[in-house]
Amino acid sequence: MARRFPGGELVVASHNEGKVREIRELLLPFGVVTRSAAELGLPEPEETGTTFVANAELKARAAAMASGKIALADDSGLVVDALGGDPGIYSARWAGPTKDFSLAMQKVEDALQKAGVVTPVQRTAHFVAVLSLCWPDGHCESFEGKFFGAVVWPPRGLNGFGYDPMFLPGGHTLTCGEMEPAAKHAISHRAVAFRQLVAACFAPRG
Ligand code: IMP
Repeated sequence: MARRFPGGELVVASHNEGKVREIRELLLPFGVVTRSAAELGLPEPEETGTTFVANAELKARAAAMASGKIALADDSGLVVDALGGDPGIYSARWAGPTKDFSLAMQKVEDALQKAGVVTPVQRTAHFVAVLSLCWPDGHCESFEGKFFGAVVWPPRGLNGFGYDPMFLPGGHTLTCGEMEPAAKHAISHRAVAFRQLVAACFAPRG
């Protein structure tokens, strides 16, 4: 049985404003008061893990130990099957220091062309999100969500962020860059992980 959040303040272990806002809104119905790592002046640890789970736990555990409060972190990325799972845990890093995701998407396409991947069926991919809730004693509860689809070229749409314009969810005709944000949020990897986290650690037990 998962360890439950006892109430009170929660540290969102991220310096990314967008992520902090999204997590804050999702937890509001459960009466959770959130503080961000940036508000508390907590340092950003280096993501040295080799899996999404390891990196999410590393970020949440560092924030929990530094603040003495329970902390939540998320680690996510795009996994392209024909590229052996790349960019994967390096998804943010493929965008370089200027966080240029046009460049990151071009790198994915160049790597697929180099690998001789041309047909749509060879272009399967999925997004992964891991949410980790960690306590100051080092205990963590982690939940993973996946969002299956394919990568398309050229990128389409101006909504979303990161690799959204080149990701076509399975069974859909619009990329995540073209979809309304609410439509993506209902089916995304982050939503799947959130539902598990909330059911296990936040929602009242029925
Ligand atoms: P990190 O979790 O902060 O290490 O970085 C995750 C990276 O994965 C982001 O910078 C995006 O490039 C990519 N990513 C994760 N989730 C999504 C998504 O929902 N849409 C588009 N890109 C995403």
